Amino acid sequence: KALGGNRYELADPDSDALTISRHMLTTHLPAALEGEEFFIEYQPLVRMEDGSVEGAEALVRWAHPRHGVLGPDRFIPLAEHTGLIVPLGRWVLEQAVRQACEWQVRGIGGARPLRVNVNLSPRQLRHPELVSETVAVLREAGLDPSSLCLEVTESALIRADDAELKPLRQLADLGVHIALDDFGTGYSNLASLRRLPAGTLKLDRSFTRGLQQEPADPVDLKVVEGIVSLAHALGLSVTVEGVETAAQAEQLRKLGCDSAQGWYYARPGPPEHLSGSTMPLAAG
Ligand code: C2E
Ligand code: CA
Ligand code: CA
Ligand code: CA
Repeated sequence: KALGGNRYELADPDSDALTISRHMLTTHLPAALEGEEFFIEYQPLVRMEDGSVEGAEALVRWAHPRHGVLGPDRFIPLAEHTGLIVPLGRWVLEQAVRQACEWQVRGIGGARPLRVNVNLSPRQLRHPELVSETVAVLREAGLDPSSLCLEVTESALIRADDAELKPLRQLADLGVHIALDDFGTGYSNLASLRRLPAGTLKLDRSFTRGLQQEPADPVDLKVVEGIVSLAHALGLSVTVEGVETAAQAEQLRKLGCDSAQGWYYARPGPPEHLSGSTMPLAAG
């Protein structure tokens, strides 16, 4: 209680991480941002053709002084609801862009510079300063726009009208990559895919789950195969999420997926995990 004065009045001293009140988390969010309680873990994205590292996704965590490390599912929806996602998202972008610069300066990733992927929430997408701030962050760090990938969920994008898509289009025109996150959960149709400025589909984990069992679920195989050929026909690359086993990785490679992310390759971890030799990479 000494930590945050009356901010903690609702916290139950016996509560575990699963029962912390939403209200308590929400009221503490601004102070947590001020107090630098957030940190970022990076999870590698691996090219399926040769197992090389293409880049990494920045995933934010909250080192809560009382409740330990909280995953983003615990506080991102609250931050989105209250609007704090805008400054929090800006902080994540700044950190991630700086980190990508550092990897590049140290020559990690070899001939092809590592890219960093940053999640963008619907609220950030609608923020009027999105383009100018992103450009400023890139300039200040000296990172080429092509080394940044912004991930926007499919459900956020299919609801967006042309005015809302404009900033993303501007960023794409500047060379920033746009990925359609959690693809397959938002019921896009062909027409809506074509009007989006995305260059990559990130196939949701729910599609790769059926490929974990031996033999793989034949319907899931067909579905993934169909999505991959559709994406490629539209000029989009395909990243698969949640790859946990060697068998899954091999299936997905055969199905033509371009890159993959998942515990099989590496769990999210500190940025040092990307430094080539220590990368726990077991390419399929
Ligand atoms: P996401 O963008 O779909 O990120 C992938 C999630 O899958 C991450 O969960 C990651 O740790 C997890 N994951 C990766 N590989 C595997 C695997 O092989 N198996 C399983 N079971 N899970 C795997 P995490 O870190 O808990 O993030 C959850 C969500 O929170 C993210 O989903 C993203 O939507 C959101 N998020 C994270 N960081 C940020 C951020 O900085 N800004 C915003 N707006 N959202 C964020
Ligand atoms: Ca993501
Ligand atoms: Ca995702
Ligand atoms: Ca997800």
